[in-house]
Amino acid sequence: MTQRIALVTGGTRGIGAAISLALKNAGYKVAANYANNDTAATEFAKVTGVATYKWDISDYEACQQGVKMVSTDLGGPIDILINNAGITRDGAMHKMTPENWGAVIDTNLTSAFNMSRSVLDSMRDNKFGRIINISSMNGQLGQFGQTNYSAAKAGIFGFTKALARETASRSITVNAIAPGYIATEMVKAVKEDIMKMIVSNIPVGRIGEPEEIARAVVFLADDQASFITGETLSINGGQYME
Ligand code: NDP
Repeated sequence: MTQRIALVTGGTRGIGAAISLALKNAGYKVAANYANNDTAATEFAKVTGVATYKWDISDYEACQQGVKMVSTDLGGPIDILINNAGITRDGAMHKMTPENWGAVIDTNLTSAFNMSRSVLDSMRDNKFGRIINISSMNGQLGQFGQTNYSAAKAGIFGFTKALARETASRSITVNAIAPGYIATEMVKAVKEDIMKMIVSNIPVGRIGEPEEIARAVVFLADDQASFITGETLSINGGQYME
């Protein structure tokens, strides 16, 4: 069988970098997208050999162009899309600006439309596809100071279930992963005393590692995971159970 092609948004740092590498090690051709941090992307490409591509996933046209470029370079359409890139712009609702609301909705939710829409025609033609959306436990729980982030991440669950219904007959599965706290720069920005409090609420007694999310992505991306769709896999050390 020809090597399948995977595209990971935000695939050069944090959880996305672990996903890109795990997919590469599992035998896929991998492209990693990013937005701004050229230094991190160059270093990631050098160390892993994964091709990196810079565009803003909140921009529909840029996603269309980016997907085209990746397909041309990697020699075929995208078989596996990991909608991973995300940002936070935290603040209590009564202080939140429309800009911080919009940036998080556009980057964390509308991007899933932009990217999935850009790969869907070829997945439908090929009668195969995997779309894996990285949501968050905070989309399940709702988090103080994160109305924008929680709304966007909760939106991903509805998006996942609806798209899964639309694509099932073409052997395209659409699933979500809801990580709890994972050791990346996004979480390292949290103050030490708050981090201690967070860890005290995690039954396994620690935060997770990016590789622990990547492992689940590899599982869901597999050809044999074809009967799992519209599902959310929570990976949070036992902190939240549906
Ligand atoms: P990081 O901040 O470590 O990395 C984010 C990645 O996304 C970077 O590669 C960044 O690119 C890219 N990115 C950000 N905005 C855009 C954009 N507009 N277009 C393209 N790429 C973009 O994040 P994490 O690894 O911590 O998080 C990854 C995902 O997991 C996010 O969706 C996050 O919400 C989710 N998550 C994370 C948790 C955690 O504890 N860390 C918990 C639950 C969910 P660049 O390098 O150029 O900045």
